Amino acid sequence: MQAPFIEVKDLTKYYGNFRAVDNLTFHVNQGDIYGFLGPNGAGKSTTLRMLLTLIRPSSGSIRFFNSWLSGNRRMILGRIGSIVERPDFYNYLSARMNLEYFGNLNERSISRRKIYELLDLVGLNGREEDKVREYSHGMKQRLGIAQALLHDPEIIILDEPTTGLDPEGIINIRNLLKNLRDEKAKTILISSHILSEIELVANSMVIINKGKLVAEGRISDLLSTDEMVVTFRCSPASAFKSFLDNPEIKQHLISYSDTEMVLKLSMREIPRINSFLVEKGLEITGIDSKRKLEDYFLKLVRDN
Ligand code: ADP
Ligand code: MG
Repeated sequence: MQAPFIEVKDLTKYYGNFRAVDNLTFHVNQGDIYGFLGPNGAGKSTTLRMLLTLIRPSSGSIRFFNSWLSGNRRMILGRIGSIVERPDFYNYLSARMNLEYFGNLNERSISRRKIYELLDLVGLNGREEDKVREYSHGMKQRLGIAQALLHDPEIIILDEPTTGLDPEGIINIRNLLKNLRDEKAKTILISSHILSEIELVANSMVIINKGKLVAEGRISDLLSTDEMVVTFRCSPASAFKSFLDNPEIKQHLISYSDTEMVLKLSMREIPRINSFLVEKGLEITGIDSKRKLEDYFLKLVRDN
């Protein structure tokens, strides 16, 4: 089996006495869209900046393409494209001229044809000659991705690329990332603080909180519908009380209040439990179901 494209092992970063990243281990395989999920302040940017050698780890190791990052920095960074800070462009120049400028900073020069191809790839065709100052935030993000692709990297690292975008902008980025994986065989590491964004685009993910790993694995395993947290709401209030000792309910009960009862169920069980409650004369006014990890993550974000 081929070695992972990115291997992070026991990575730790202190800022003074504060441990921003704490013994983090995960790996990204070739062809992955790999999600890096965590609430604000979890340590995502710190980790990605260490991967790009913008800051030094306090301890731990990083390998790309089966080579240590320390000692092979130039070779490795030459095969990675990234956006970790909001991309910075010359507003008074066109998108095409910006890419020409950035493209020719490096030793390998970039043809104008290649630049048009990239602008087309990120959906900016027809807008190539418009000044960046006339671009929307979403267009600038896509131009940033085009810039990251200038030297045809195998890996693309993006730190919260959809922050501040409207729903359409988010969909554009999502489709672009899938296209880059499927059509251009890119491996993508993308961070976000929004679970649904990662879920819709990635095949695997790691979740971190306060610098520490919380969960890691395939999205389909982590967000399985075998274990869900299901909230039933009813009227009149307090009608749930009489069900708490019912064997049908009791075995699933997580918590309850006068108006809500929270049960742990598999998705298959939800209709049956719902019918059971309705048959017993309860008026169910709402059902809210979340995968267990989704429920956990939303509470993490809320309590942060
Ligand atoms: P995220 O990107 O997940 O929001 P960051 O990696 O930016 O998280 O930050 C992780 C923690 O480290 C936060 O508590 C943040 O305040 C702190 N932090 C980030 N950069 C620095 C720095 N240069 N000096 C001190 N603390 C920092
Ligand atoms: Mg960040």
